[in-house]
Amino acid sequence: MTAPEPLERAALIRRLQEPREWDLAIIGGGATGLGVALDAAARGFSVVLVESEDFAKGTSSRATKLVHGGVRYLAQGDVSLVHEALRERGNLLANAPHVAQRLPFVMPSYRWWETAFYGVGLKAYDALAGARGLGATEFLSTTRTRELLPGVNPRGLSGGVKYWDGQFDDARLAVLLARTAAARGALLLNHCAAVALHREAGKVRGVVVEDRETGSRTSLRAHCVVNATGVWVDAVRDMDREEGSPQRPPMVAPSQGVHLIVDRRFLPGNHALLVPKTADGRVLFAVPWLGKTVLGTTDTPRGDLAREPAPFAEEVEFILREAGHVLGAAPTRADVRSIWVGLRPLVKPLSDDGENTKALSREHTVIVGRSGLVTVTGGKWTTYRAMAEDVLDRAMSAGLLASRPGGVTERLPLLGSAPGRPLSEPPGEHLYGSEVAALRALPGADHWLWRDGSGGLSEAMVRFAARHEMARQVEDVLARRSRLLFLDAAEAGRQADAVAAILAEELGRAVDTQPFKALAAQYTQLP
Ligand SMILES: Cc1cc2nc3c(=O)[nH]c(=O)nc-3n(C[C@H](O)[C@H](O)[C@H](O)COP(=O)(O)OP(=O)(O)OC[C@H]3O[C@@H](n4cnc5c(N)ncnc54)[C@H](O)[C@@H]3O)c2cc1C
Repeated sequence: MTAPEPLERAALIRRLQEPREWDLAIIGGGATGLGVALDAAARGFSVVLVESEDFAKGTSSRATKLVHGGVRYLAQGDVSLVHEALRERGNLLANAPHVAQRLPFVMPSYRWWETAFYGVGLKAYDALAGARGLGATEFLSTTRTRELLPGVNPRGLSGGVKYWDGQFDDARLAVLLARTAAARGALLLNHCAAVALHREAGKVRGVVVEDRETGSRTSLRAHCVVNATGVWVDAVRDMDREEGSPQRPPMVAPSQGVHLIVDRRFLPGNHALLVPKTADGRVLFAVPWLGKTVLGTTDTPRGDLAREPAPFAEEVEFILREAGHVLGAAPTRADVRSIWVGLRPLVKPLSDDGENTKALSREHTVIVGRSGLVTVTGGKWTTYRAMAEDVLDRAMSAGLLASRPGGVTERLPLLGSAPGRPLSEPPGEHLYGSEVAALRALPGADHWLWRDGSGGLSEAMVRFAARHEMARQVEDVLARRSRLLFLDAAEAGRQADAVAAILAEELGRAVDTQPFKALAAQYTQLP
């Protein structure tokens, strides 16, 4: 076993302040920016990445947790998008099996034609996956559907279809990407924001970053600057404006997606459930995840770009109503243990008014501006690696980086890579993969702050988060290293003091619990 690298902030900040020129400076530590950082570091480029909050604090911790080709895009005839995503689904499951695994789905049928109709589409999905398929699609009798989905509503059920896709722990994957990139020499800092771009003769030559903990500013020089700030890309594009020139029309039309978490008793068994067509023509998932059930999601355009967007009452009602149609025991508002909202960075045609977000592009977009600023947004978590390759290809063909061959991350195991227990089970030490021995070597490995089955959250996990996973605040631990905020917000609020005490010991300074307690209360409140 090789011991994981300690990532001590003071040492990272000292590296940030060294006078030097980086090949690549990346703004944004979500799936997209972290993917670019790892790919570039693996190709031998010097890389710095800054994230204003925490890794995956934005959209990248708020996914439906599916590693998928996107069956619904196939229905829309978007074969190339699905093909790429199926390829990347295979890569991700192979490179990080401790946090990304295959998962069987069942689509129950309540109308006589549904099994045949959707079954044929799902057979095409298998065919497109080819050798990377995860298992064959099966047509199910009514009895078999009830066996596989013990929680399904039996009234009017007329069979179903079973198919395979994947699921993951999005925020833990993000932290693994950051750590794997760091192990390859990249410098990554959370709680460090890009506040201005450094321009010379109309070209972007670097970034001014502000350490959010101290307020100190550092000017970084880089050959290539990548704006990977998700729904916030337009604010960084605006930093790239010539003085006095008009503001550019925004690239992104944000659309929010709400998820509700309820207990596993609503969906016992180990299969996820897909509703292929809800009342508003979308799909809805019920997914077993880390000992609970995720219900979602919605697709609601919104004008603002809040860091913690609030759900709308209609979205909650919609999810509960749709879930109530297909689940034998319909969850109610009182059953919701956590509610969280993510913003999709949908790329809009510049003339679009942002109203019909379902018609906007779900593929990613890479733009190299006249100043050389590379902006990337859109896409999905599943395709982060392909997006990173596109970004580097564009930067190389624009002469911002020297040419170096790609494909290096296709078979690059992330830290801790080892087959793990199913992600449908409660969280525990298995999520650390081959790093579990290093975790257990820390003080408090058997001191459980919160217990769920044989897992939960241990004191050692908090110490591991501080020493090796760059956690700086209670929220970093309870929202993204552990996922307790997303699983059971009230319980997460109760754990804030204990986590803060351990973090304070590790970081050698006081740790405030109030901001997290307020956030945990927000995640328990339904509109
Ligand atoms: C509801 C919902 C469900 C989804 N479900 C799935 C799914 O099941 N499977 C799937 O594959 N995809 C899914 N997606 C898509 C996927 O989550 C996103 O495509 C992906 O997370 C976007 O990552 P990103 O890095 O581009 O953006 P983000 O994760 O938002 O990252 C951008 C980062 O930039 C940082 N930032 C902003 N401004 C600055 C600055 N000035 N300086 C430094 N940092 C800055 C932010 O703090 C943020 O962390 C879903 C999306 C939504 C909204």
